[in-house]
Amino acid sequence: MPIDITKDTPQIALKKLKARESVLRHFEDIAGLGSWEVDLKTKKSVWSKESYKIYGLKEGTEVSIDTFFFMLLPEYITDAKTLLQEAIQTGKVLKFTCKARRKDGTIIDLFINGRVIFDENKQPLKLIGTTQDITEITNIKEEAKELAAILEYSSNEIYIIELETLRYLYVNKGACRALGYTNEEMLQKTVRDINPYLEKSKIAYLQEKIEQGEKVLNRTIHQRKDGTEYHVQSYIYKLAYHGKDAAVIFDTDISELIALEKEHHQQAKLLEYQAYHDTLTDLPNRTLFQDRLQQAIITSKRNEEKFALLFIDLDQFKKINDSLGHHIGDEVLIESAKRFQKVLREEDTLSRLGGDEFTIILKNLKSEKNAATVAQKLINSLKKPIETKHHSLHISSSIGISIYPNDAETQEDLLKYADTAMYKAKDEGRNNFQFYSSEMTQQAFEKVIMENSLRIAIKENQFEVYFQPQYNAETETIIGMEALVRWVHPHVGIVPPSEFIPMAEENGFIIDIDKIIMKQAMQEFSSWYAQGLNPGKLALNLSMKQLNENNFITDLLQTMQENNFKVSWLELEVTEGQVMQNPEQSIKKLKRLSNIGISIAIDDFGTGYSSLSYLKKLPLSKLKIDRSFIKEIPYDEDDIAITKAIIAIAKSLNLHIIAEGVETKEQKEFMLVNGCKKIQGYYYSQPLSRYKMTKLLKRSNET
Ligand code: C2E
Ligand code: CA
Ligand code: CA
Repeated sequence: MPIDITKDTPQIALKKLKARESVLRHFEDIAGLGSWEVDLKTKKSVWSKESYKIYGLKEGTEVSIDTFFFMLLPEYITDAKTLLQEAIQTGKVLKFTCKARRKDGTIIDLFINGRVIFDENKQPLKLIGTTQDITEITNIKEEAKELAAILEYSSNEIYIIELETLRYLYVNKGACRALGYTNEEMLQKTVRDINPYLEKSKIAYLQEKIEQGEKVLNRTIHQRKDGTEYHVQSYIYKLAYHGKDAAVIFDTDISELIALEKEHHQQAKLLEYQAYHDTLTDLPNRTLFQDRLQQAIITSKRNEEKFALLFIDLDQFKKINDSLGHHIGDEVLIESAKRFQKVLREEDTLSRLGGDEFTIILKNLKSEKNAATVAQKLINSLKKPIETKHHSLHISSSIGISIYPNDAETQEDLLKYADTAMYKAKDEGRNNFQFYSSEMTQQAFEKVIMENSLRIAIKENQFEVYFQPQYNAETETIIGMEALVRWVHPHVGIVPPSEFIPMAEENGFIIDIDKIIMKQAMQEFSSWYAQGLNPGKLALNLSMKQLNENNFITDLLQTMQENNFKVSWLELEVTEGQVMQNPEQSIKKLKRLSNIGISIAIDDFGTGYSSLSYLKKLPLSKLKIDRSFIKEIPYDEDDIAITKAIIAIAKSLNLHIIAEGVETKEQKEFMLVNGCKKIQGYYYSQPLSRYKMTKLLKRSNET
């Protein structure tokens, strides 16, 4: 508050002024603020105590305005003089910052604040003002600036985000450079924009932690403006920024580190792989084999399944190794391993125990016979000589087989028994397989014999077609016949299809057999028609395997052509079970046949779980009710119901229907009453040789 001394006596006024001055001094002292005045005529100055202190001069030293200019650093002098002139001319307040050198040589920052006082004639009288030492504030500001610059130009990425919105409030140059965005672009974005893989829940979790004041370390992937990505490690903590709840994020590009980690990981994996695999053949080694064997025991026990352990030893390996060298030996081992592998399914484990010893685990074994089949295939796989650069090597193998749980239930025993069986195979003259249990070997032997005899049967054409007539039960006339194969074995006699068709399906012989029967049947039909007989339609059984053959349709057309056989005479029977194994594919293949004009019948209908939707899509003309449903008619209620249902399905799908296996008059009557007129079965006739069938046709032609 200004003091009023106009009414005081000079003594009192002086006292008051002194008191006031002392208070002012105090303020000056506290603020580091010095006051001064300059007589603009004489240039003489009066400085306060604090002013002397600021410049480092002894209090009372005579000073003038030039003392001030003298102490100013040279680069400020011109500006200061100009500003002073301006203040004198315009009366404006004088304000400027500058640097000065104190008496002791130290440089200080000053803030000068002054104004000119004019006399009654408006002539400039004096200049009064203050000088403030702002060295400390300036230093702090400069330091802050430097710090800001360090942050700004740091090669690390530094961000400040608003915690709530995740919007960027500050982004340093390093971050812009790393991401390829400009600063302005970045300030329009949020954390989510450049961290595309950071999940919402993770963000919420981090927000929470930061909010609570925790310093958070996190890894994430940044996406650049051009779409490329890189890994970063973030160090984040809470910060107040321009009055907002914010967080500062320091990010370091760790892509190289991640790549390094990956490499380490791969190396570790490779090392692990090498520890469990044979370097020569790349197969599982003994360690991994034992592990797999243990696993096989555990899963087979749990699922109540069987598995087979095969122990293979190459027969002439030692000889090859000794006479031709390890190098050739290695080639033989590699090639043998490859051939074995080809025989196996993916889930079977082939391992090399060492030397020329291999093992195989055949999991989920349905029958021991399957193990025999695989063993035979393994033996056959070595039949073709192994070709090296200079040699053509004939090699064979001996295989021993043990079965879990029949032979043993522990690792050690299974391996021991398979090994024993392998020596049995060696004793039997090598190039064969033996089961640990001799009973099994016997059965397998029969199978091998059977396979061999079938091979011979195909070569020597020991198959003969039989025909079973199909009747219209209303008119009692023949409307067609089914061709059925008979194997006429030179020593055994006639072998029924049930004895060999399953095996022929399994090993693919069925394709050749069906071709033989197709040809014989077509020849016979053409000849009957040529003689003026009327055999109706020829129903041929067709394995899906046959249909999947590449040139099946071409072969079929060619056989028809060669035998003057008309397409309209032909009907193909496919079993429901086979069609439903892969319905989509069956639809495709059967459509191609039906497009040529061949009718298609579904055989053994009712046993294969067809869905109505597939039945609609299949290009069918006939359903054949399976014999098993006819057998107990008219005694079994269920069979009656099923048979009626099948007839209803056929009617609703507009398909022909035929019953097979009709043996009695009651069965025939039942079928007729329920709307199934077509009948095949012993009631009318057993399958007949072509000779007998010709006689039957001739007889029915006469009536
Ligand atoms: P499938 O196609 O169901 O043939 C009908 C079977 O039922 C024939 O047996 C036939 O002799 C028998 N059968 C017919 N009527 C009666 C009857 O009233 N009572 C009894 N108990 N049986 C009757 P087969 O000839 O033994 O043929 C068995 C199966 O072998 C056939 O069943 C068929 O799936 C297959 N098969 C036969 N020949 C061939 C062929 O040339 N190729 C193909 N792929 N499979 C064939
Ligand atoms: Ca059939
Ligand atoms: Ca059938």
